[in-house]
Amino acid sequence: MVISEILPFHACKRCAACCKGKVIPLYSPDFRRLSGLEGFSVHTSKLERALTGAHYKMRMAGSRCVFLQGGLCSHYELRPDTCRRHPFIVTENWILVNPACPGIDWNRKNIEGEEHYRKLSSGISDWIDALVGSAGGITSPQTRRVVPRKRGAP
Ligand code: SF4
Ligand code: SF4
Repeated sequence: MVISEILPFHACKRCAACCKGKVIPLYSPDFRRLSGLEGFSVHTSKLERALTGAHYKMRMAGSRCVFLQGGLCSHYELRPDTCRRHPFIVTENWILVNPACPGIDWNRKNIEGEEHYRKLSSGISDWIDALVGSAGGITSPQTRRVVPRKRGAP
């Protein structure tokens, strides 16, 4: 993830890259939404809890999310907030972008808006704010926009 000064446009290409080999943290709204299903979650590790605040994550079969079938999410309408907000985490202070997602277009404005992603990021926000604050920022050579951005700043 990189810190961005803007929220870029995103249109999912359905490549399923974010459904493989990832930690998909689960929060209370996810369990409410997925309450009719069983066997999809496992405990997070101590480190994963420290980074995400989540006690559970999606179960992987091999390196693939158990909901992934034939390259598509078998429970797309019920998918966790983590999947809904990917490739963004938007907190009160920061916009984080996963630049590896092929659905990002840095040259276009995001049509959903920051508030949309801020709500979907609420489970992980406090942990990200603490982490970014203590680390002094995250940068990556993969993106052009790595300038820390404070909400309300001119
Ligand atoms: S990595 Fe990006 S483009 Fe690929 S499925 Fe995930 S959100 Fe969509
Ligand atoms: S729940 Fe669906 S969208 Fe989320 S990682 Fe699993 S297959 Fe992908």
